[in-house]
Amino acid sequence: MLRMSGTEVAKIRQETLKNDVQNFFAQRGRKPGLAVIIVGHDPASQVYVRNKVKTTVALGMESFHFELPENIQEADLIKKIEELNRDPSVDGILVQLPLPKHLRSDVVLEAIRPEKDPDGLTVGNLGLLFAGRKRVAPCTPWGVMAILEHYKIPVAGRHAVVVGRSNIVGKPMAQLLLEANATVTICHSRTRDLAAVTRSGDIVIAAAGQCRFMGKEHVAEGAVVVDVGIHRPESGAFAGKLCGDVRYEELENWASAATPVPGGVGPMTIQMLMENTVHLAILGAKIGANLGA
Ligand code: NAD
Repeated sequence: MLRMSGTEVAKIRQETLKNDVQNFFAQRGRKPGLAVIIVGHDPASQVYVRNKVKTTVALGMESFHFELPENIQEADLIKKIEELNRDPSVDGILVQLPLPKHLRSDVVLEAIRPEKDPDGLTVGNLGLLFAGRKRVAPCTPWGVMAILEHYKIPVAGRHAVVVGRSNIVGKPMAQLLLEANATVTICHSRTRDLAAVTRSGDIVIAAAGQCRFMGKEHVAEGAVVVDVGIHRPESGAFAGKLCGDVRYEELENWASAATPVPGGVGPMTIQMLMENTVHLAILGAKIGANLGA
């Protein structure tokens, strides 16, 4: 079985991206900029934000980092986002989720101008994606497509089964596979006989957020499996360890290719966030040039 390593794919793509960043700097006289906003002190979010800031800087990009108080009012957070929407040195704005309970994530995220939304999660960007006019795609499913492309997994004409229908992963994943000419089935918590459906897939994308719930019985011999799930269970045999939605070890000598957890889709998400930011910077610069800016 081919082990599809997102860590490896991300490393290779990083080198290309560094060149794109340098070229942007040479042409525009400034670095592509990513602004990250974190509200409150959630320890997991702080680790994610630190990693994003570190990666942004390592790629030669400009990093703007705002730590806002836990009790901030929604209107004040939106004011900050609007300020960044107007700032010409900022190409991408990311609000780290989850937000404290008194803030409505959908309202806050929608305040980001779609032209500066590297997560691709605003209605504007999701609308373009589903209309077949993609500006940027949400980072995790976009990272899955990059892994499939890197390992030369044929997609066109094949049956892809996506398990999960969230706006962040499942739905855009299905749309990207459709755009790549797969025949796509979406499964969810109300799907009857999940294993029978997933066994009919040439490509199975597991994104249900259920720790190690899929195994050999869900996969046809020779199929390709991508595991998007990330869990760190508190008890059981995998207590304290990272694991996915799939029992990877059962796929050896059965599936033709699969992504592990950790080291699979996870490292691609941050890479695609950086690629989307640079892509938005280039698009923004073109619009600026057309306007004579
Ligand atoms: P979510 O909870 O919003 O959505 C889960 C989806 O799976 C739902 O549509 C639900 O209907 C479906 N589902 C749940 N149980 C099911 C079952 N038993 N059978 C079939 N379908 C079922 O989760 P999400 O935000 O889409 O994330 C999914 C997983 O991916 C989570 O484990 C999350 O941590 C992980 N994730 C990883 C990355 C990454 O960078 N690798 C990024 C985002 C999410």
